[in-house]
Amino acid sequence: MGQSGSVIGLLEAREWHEMLRVENTLSALERNGFDVRYYPTAEEAVAGVLGMVPEGAAVGLGGSVTLREMGLVDALEARGVELADHWKAGQRGASKEEVMEIRRAHLNSDVFITGTNAVTETGELVNIDGTGQRVAAMIFGPGRVVVVAGVNKITGDLEEGLWRASNVAAPMNARRLHPGTPCAETGECEDCVAPGRICSVTTIIHRRPRQTPFTVVLVGERLGY
Ligand code: SF4
Repeated sequence: MGQSGSVIGLLEAREWHEMLRVENTLSALERNGFDVRYYPTAEEAVAGVLGMVPEGAAVGLGGSVTLREMGLVDALEARGVELADHWKAGQRGASKEEVMEIRRAHLNSDVFITGTNAVTETGELVNIDGTGQRVAAMIFGPGRVVVVAGVNKITGDLEEGLWRASNVAAPMNARRLHPGTPCAETGECEDCVAPGRICSVTTIIHRRPRQTPFTVVLVGERLGY
């Protein structure tokens, strides 16, 4: 098997295959105009993302389990940047109006950091959103967008990415949020009409939006939903 055989000899087959998918994804994203980074661990990714945030920057945080799980939110707070974090505000008991103001602030942030529901090996980002400001801020407004994704978010192509967003990410988010939707019980999208439906908007970012510096950070760990 030549060179491939020697690589397989050095690495576990799983890691080898995962790295191939990471490399495919990074190359495709780059072809689509994105700046790309890869970090093997969440700890290294936190340091890398902190390096993308200038002193005194206004930072918007998308509703993302990934960012919390990897410790990035705590690291940003410790650094003392101005954080627009509607999740934390909600937990602190902020009013609906205050939370809405924070959501709006995402659109004007210097750096908007978020996760993604899927990143494809063909170089697209796929997301489903209920309110919409997370996907809106990924497309236009912030001075810079940084998207962080664990390897579990990689899908083969756009079709699989759309499937993942509806049948993996959304049901898990529904399970977490208890909106009374069928997917929170079945684990699959039923294309529901429940009042608490969390899927209002689906976005596909095919290429870097023209006016926005945009970095996609892949992390060699499973993160988020
Ligand atoms: S459309 Fe409804 S059932 Fe499907 S993932 Fe969204 S909330 Fe769940």
